[in-house]
Amino acid sequence: MNGKPYGQPSVSARAVRRAAERETEKRVSKPTLAVAAPRMSFGHQHAEAFCLMWYACECGHRERIWNSRDGVTAFGFQCPSCKEPKLKHVNWGLDKYAPDHVPAPGQRIWIDLTRDRALEIARRTVDQVAKGKLPEGADLNRIADAVYNGGMQPDLVVYGYVEAS
Ligand SMILES: [Zn+2]
Repeated sequence: MNGKPYGQPSVSARAVRRAAERETEKRVSKPTLAVAAPRMSFGHQHAEAFCLMWYACECGHRERIWNSRDGVTAFGFQCPSCKEPKLKHVNWGLDKYAPDHVPAPGQRIWIDLTRDRALEIARRTVDQVAKGKLPEGADLNRIADAVYNGGMQPDLVVYGYVEAS
């Protein structure tokens, strides 16, 4: 008996959905809007299609990421060295169109987000926001759909990082 007839307030489905939307926003790119000088898109839909792009963080981390497809990329996200969300696309003038680029093992590349991965992100978001307990009325698959956004979202993976057989 805790004397509270309506129980403890729980995280609402809306809070989880908002968190999922924020996650989605973080992953959506803005470079085509923010870029100062127009860039060639080489007949592709996105200016950053198949480009090698420098990303840097104020902590000193710097890496070159390749966009493996004609799709959007994220402008900024979490830095793997300091964990701050400060790794940003820099030196836009050094973006290099490289459709035939073969990534080095260990290089990070942008790929299309898969629905399975969107589900994983949805699950992780629920874990972080609602301590793993899906609030009443929330639907993990609908959250995953919001993250997936029809397959338009980018995902970032390490190229060639596979376990030896
Ligand atoms: Zn950093």
